[in-house]
Amino acid sequence: MSTDESTDESTDESTTPLLEVTDLRKSFGDQEVLRDIDFTVEQGTVTVLLGPSGSGKTTVLRSLNALEVPDAGVVRIEDVEVDFGQARSRRDADRDLARLRRQSAMVFQAHHLFPHRTVLQNLTEGPIHAQGRPEAEVVPEARVLLEQVGLADREDAYPSQLSGGQQQRVGIARALALKPRLMLFDEPTSALDPELVGEVLGVMKDLAAEGWTMVVVTHEIRFAQQVADQVLFLDDGVIAERGPASQVIEDPREARTRQFLHRIL
Ligand code: ADP
Repeated sequence: MSTDESTDESTDESTTPLLEVTDLRKSFGDQEVLRDIDFTVEQGTVTVLLGPSGSGKTTVLRSLNALEVPDAGVVRIEDVEVDFGQARSRRDADRDLARLRRQSAMVFQAHHLFPHRTVLQNLTEGPIHAQGRPEAEVVPEARVLLEQVGLADREDAYPSQLSGGQQQRVGIARALALKPRLMLFDEPTSALDPELVGEVLGVMKDLAAEGWTMVVVTHEIRFAQQVADQVLFLDDGVIAERGPASQVIEDPREARTRQFLHRIL
């Protein structure tokens, strides 16, 4: 799908991006870690955030679902828009953040599974208890998701009985069970042994092919080349370069993108 920025201006409903980030800014104490962060993500596309350690990738990702609250800027996911710079009552702010959080689901670097719950219970916990959906509906859906990530036969296992790659696949299925509009991945394979990385990236490629809208922080350049519709290269808190993977990775324009790619390739 096109990531052409000309669509940004469009008022046509069919080309309105699913995600729109405008002028995001964030400091931790005196340290400004993000500034002038602007980008859009079209429905059904994959955006990969690349950049050196400390460049702000995770902070951008966490800002999208208000795990990190930016100092200023606007995040809109579909019809939910939060202007972080706007003065609001505490109650209104909390309500807006809760609405934004429901639009996306995050897969973390190290899985955050509930250790004393089975695989199936890990998937059904959020939909039943946080979303108040009926168990009779949620359980069959969870089984379909486990099938999708190749773990249909492990629903009664506990996380400690699974490999790191299997745990991470449960983490992905658990995020999908929340039926988010947007899937966020924060270095989902970086804590895995190298031989387990492929199975997790394989699941992510399947999700991309199914049309999930995804924003992914990763150092897996081959994955980015194969799957990303859009690559954002961050350096020192700004988007230093952006474009299709074929341009940013294979033919970078900026010296700092080239330096980064030389270091990691
Ligand atoms: P990346 O994901 O690209 O490695 P991060 O978004 O994690 O970068 O971090 C960007 C900068 O913000 C770094 O300098 C980091 O030390 C700082 N930072 C991130 N989170 C916090 C925090 N909770 N408190 C203070 N500084 C933070």
